[in-house]
Amino acid sequence: MNISADRILLITLAAIAAVSLCYVLYRVVCSLLFRLNRFFRVQIIENPRFQLFGKYYSRLPITENLVALTFDDGPYEPYTTKLLGVLDDHQVKATFFFAGLRIEQYSEAAKEVCRRGHQIGNHSYSHHRLVGRSLKFIRSEIEATDRLIRALGVTDEIPFRAPYTAKFLTLPYFLTRTKRLHILFDTAPMPRDTWGAPVEAVAASIAQQARPGSIIALHDGNLKAGLWIANYTDAVIRDLKKKGFRFCTVSELINANRN
Ligand SMILES: [Zn+2]
Repeated sequence: MNISADRILLITLAAIAAVSLCYVLYRVVCSLLFRLNRFFRVQIIENPRFQLFGKYYSRLPITENLVALTFDDGPYEPYTTKLLGVLDDHQVKATFFFAGLRIEQYSEAAKEVCRRGHQIGNHSYSHHRLVGRSLKFIRSEIEATDRLIRALGVTDEIPFRAPYTAKFLTLPYFLTRTKRLHILFDTAPMPRDTWGAPVEAVAASIAQQARPGSIIALHDGNLKAGLWIANYTDAVIRDLKKKGFRFCTVSELINANRN
């Protein structure tokens, strides 16, 4: 069968137009979903307790009084080192979701977190939202950070947490295909962005939300959060201990659910 050059050109242009249209539509849908979140508080993309498909954990359905403390966006000095002191004082092991560029900036602090026996997770390289992005971009963000974490000497499975807990189609697809654990959370200071709120209020809001199997999200990795994180964490641990909770890493929490 002979296909004319004109016809091949036409089919090629039609295919390119169809792919471009799909990509534009995808970006428009993502943008609309973000607006739903911002203006109507309907959280689809950034909901820490929901993902359209693929395996994820916000909380483990266990009955034991066990919770996992997690810290995002670090390491960030001098706040991460100060936080490590508080965790040591309470003999608590936590899970740190590091951003790759922060590991490069504060490599000694990153090594120290590992040395003290905490679990390390991947929080992307640059902390950009991984929604409406190509698979190539997502892969490079996650794999670059995995390499930096491996260079710290971590040999265990590396859990992942999406920046801003933002995920829609491509990120869950990539995580599922590469068999990565996606760790979201069910407990965080309320409202989420009031850094500098009174320590007692932050601790009380966490203690009120936490249940057996909860994953608690705190931040040591930016200036506003870092300033407060050691005090917040100290108060959070004290309040949760009073309610009978014990602490473990995210992987230990997942294993507790399997046993
Ligand atoms: Zn983050």
